[in-house]
Amino acid sequence: MSHPAGVSPDTPDRAARAFVHEFSEGSKEQKRLLGGKGANLAEMTNLGLPVPPGFTISTEACRYYLAEGHEPPGLADEVDRHLARLEAERGKRLGAREDPLLVSVRSGAMYSMPGMMDTVLDIGLHDGSVAGLAAESGDERFAWDSYRRLIQMFGKTVLGIDGGLFDAALDRAKRDRGVRSDLGLGVEDLRELVAEHKAIVRDRSGREFPQDAREQVDMAVRAVFESWNTDRARAYRRQERIPHDLGTAVNVMAMVYGNLGPDSGTGVAFTRDPATGRPGVYGDYLRDAQGEDVVAGIRNTVPLQELEDIDKHSYDELMRIMARLEGHYKDLCDIEFTIERGKLWMLQTRVGKRTAAAAFRMAAQLVDDGVIDLDEALRRVTGAQLAQLMFPQFDRRSGITAFAHGVPASPGAAVGAVVFDSAEAVARDADGERVILVRQETSPDDLPGMLAADGILTSRGGKTSHAAVVARGMGKTCVVGAEDIAIDLERRRFTGPGVEVGEGDVISVDGTTGAVYRGEIAVVPSPVMRDLESGRDGEAGRGAEGAAGGAGEEPGADGESGVVHAVRRLMRHADDVRRLAVHANADTPEDAARARRFGAHGIGLCRTEHMFLGERRRYVEDLILAESQQQRDKALEALLPLQRDDFTGILEAMDGLPVTIRLIDPPLHEFLPDLTGLAVKVAVARERGAPDAGDLRLLQAVRKQHEQNPMLGLRGVRLGLVVPGLVAMQVRAVAEAAVARTRAGGTPRPEIMVPLVGGVEELELLRTEIDAVLADVRAAAGVDVPIAVGTMIELPRAALTAGRIATVAEFFSFGTNDLTQTTWGFSRDDVEGAFFPAYLDKGVFTVSPFEALDEEGVGRLIEIAVAEGRAARPGLVIGVCGEHGGDPSSVRFFDQAGLDYVSCSPYRVPVARLEAGRSAVTASEGGSDTR
Ligand code: PEP
Ligand code: MG
Repeated sequence: MSHPAGVSPDTPDRAARAFVHEFSEGSKEQKRLLGGKGANLAEMTNLGLPVPPGFTISTEACRYYLAEGHEPPGLADEVDRHLARLEAERGKRLGAREDPLLVSVRSGAMYSMPGMMDTVLDIGLHDGSVAGLAAESGDERFAWDSYRRLIQMFGKTVLGIDGGLFDAALDRAKRDRGVRSDLGLGVEDLRELVAEHKAIVRDRSGREFPQDAREQVDMAVRAVFESWNTDRARAYRRQERIPHDLGTAVNVMAMVYGNLGPDSGTGVAFTRDPATGRPGVYGDYLRDAQGEDVVAGIRNTVPLQELEDIDKHSYDELMRIMARLEGHYKDLCDIEFTIERGKLWMLQTRVGKRTAAAAFRMAAQLVDDGVIDLDEALRRVTGAQLAQLMFPQFDRRSGITAFAHGVPASPGAAVGAVVFDSAEAVARDADGERVILVRQETSPDDLPGMLAADGILTSRGGKTSHAAVVARGMGKTCVVGAEDIAIDLERRRFTGPGVEVGEGDVISVDGTTGAVYRGEIAVVPSPVMRDLESGRDGEAGRGAEGAAGGAGEEPGADGESGVVHAVRRLMRHADDVRRLAVHANADTPEDAARARRFGAHGIGLCRTEHMFLGERRRYVEDLILAESQQQRDKALEALLPLQRDDFTGILEAMDGLPVTIRLIDPPLHEFLPDLTGLAVKVAVARERGAPDAGDLRLLQAVRKQHEQNPMLGLRGVRLGLVVPGLVAMQVRAVAEAAVARTRAGGTPRPEIMVPLVGGVEELELLRTEIDAVLADVRAAAGVDVPIAVGTMIELPRAALTAGRIATVAEFFSFGTNDLTQTTWGFSRDDVEGAFFPAYLDKGVFTVSPFEALDEEGVGRLIEIAVAEGRAARPGLVIGVCGEHGGDPSSVRFFDQAGLDYVSCSPYRVPVARLEAGRSAVTASEGGSDTR
């Protein structure tokens, strides 16, 4: 980012800094200081395009205002000076009785926030200057029309009056006159409307509409500053992950008038179709109107092409300018313009927002056109856009309306019969029925049901609740926190506004929008997903080039094949340039195989806990209840062959690539029955006579195992150290599986990973046991399969003592889920639904630290651990396997922190590959933002 001399926002010398900048002083690189609009107005001015003169009050002034509650000292003088310059340039005086200068005051933040912030046009009009404007323009109607617009806009945005009151007055005037459009109102009507608007201002704000032009400017500027913190602006920023502390700039520009009659007008245009990326003329034009009318939809616009007939000269000039802008920005530009009596003025341009499909198509196409190179193309697409292209979507033409809305937690479109518990989901799924699991919240117990379901709907919880996190990990459609619905488990039904839905009834859940519909809505499959899953793109498709070309996909700019081709091309480039490897979190052979098709180069985290569920639970129960070593061994012996088969399957699916198998992590009580349920069962049995002895023993054990804070309790490495034989069984299963795969001609590359290590002593103790088992299997089998033993770094203490831990660990993998929990002291499952919404709202963070890595805190621990770990053991392989491994912004951090790989759920592997590539090409470039 470059700044003009002396105005870097980081310069401590505030006195030397200017808060106001002429358009001619800035450039498009200065969005942080001048906002997007100001920076691009400056760029257009310097390109010599017809931009009305003006100046920008910097975001810095806004930040000062918001922090201190008043304008920075000196701002008023600076504005005076720049207004004087503007007056001199236009040969008019602001608010003068004769030939007054009018200005617009418009917000413009670093990132565009469409419709979120304020604009006021026609500032400078008052009872005294309206006649001067009429005389100068020779159009009395125009002058009064501008005045009524000013009062309306000022009243609404600056004085906070309900805009509906002004609209109602305008509608009334049209009705009284018997006209359909505001163009049918005459001078007298508008004069009356002005009087009415002024009365509304008086009634609602308790003050007269300000008659001093300079006061109008100051009030409007302040209102723009304050609009940064409106609820809707904050909500938008939360959604878009835009920091709350950037502030907005304010642009003050000489007015040009689109409402000066039929040879005037205003319009918006795109240099390409933002939905498809196709070049062409896209836009709307409205005659005899001011900017806001186009978006407000008060009259019907005409397609931009018709401007050619209306005003060919302006149309031709606009086409030339659009071509020039696209050539200059080398991207789709979005433009606002006004024609004042046949003279074209450019009011705004920016690199336009686009759909995900258009982003990919356009980037690839601009490469084909020789406008940009592949590195730049990669900077122009995002992992979030790719994720959007991967999910199936509802056919929006269906016309059915949603009966409830929740938080869109995991995108996609799911249709199925409602079920209320895991067992029912599993049973119906086994019968081939598609189901939606509807729960108040989910817990690890619901896992089988979540796996069986096509979609998940919860009435409580946020974006990082258990349901949301697990569903995203599975790539499963999920809507959480749909608070409109009330679940009645007893009657097996839920109610929502005006509906009652019973078990077995079909609903449709849109994980992209959060909408829930009754009945079945048609789903359109994603061609990008089909292609990625086929493994024909990029990395996974290497060597299968012929197949990619011969798959019946005609590479072209349009349609589905155009998107598929573009995605394939950019993925290929991302794989070529990225340094960071991408592994997957997978614990079944199916997931491993899928991850491989998606381009994963190994498994970074194979969680072993699900291998203890279902049928196998009873062995864990036996293990916990065992009263002798003999009983314990019996339970472990029963588990050993099952585990061995688990690992053999996974190693086969990932043959030749590393498979990091993590020893059991969660507290054992998670595998025992629920305390309350069991206590009730025993109590009821006691009422009726004698409870079952087994149940009694189990209840005792469950009580004994109960923990206040299981997250910080007997789990991870601690389990291995206190439950005899458990780790040995798992390690033996891994080693024997590796031997079996080697004998079968495979190339197994298992690694053993110890979770939740806090100190090197824990790891040392466990390693002694692990090494002994490995040596034993090796000796017995006569086959030497090297198996590295490493650890997760998921406690702050582990990160801070990483140098010592690295003397014992052969690799590190950051468990950023637990590292975030323990660094912040947040229990994820408890805090997300409880107070995260308030935290996000208050700006404690812009995005949940469980979603995007907290670089400042958790990231710092990671940097320390990387440096100290590698100092102690040069070349130490380091990865990350927490949720953040698949989060686009976090991937970049991990790349820059020097990690070797990120590991994420199979469905996020393509996103991580793309983001790793983007990180490689933006690191050298200094960062690019496609937001
Ligand atoms: C982690 O803590 O980041 C991790 C991967 O482990 P889990 O989520 O299984 O605790
Ligand atoms: Mg963990």
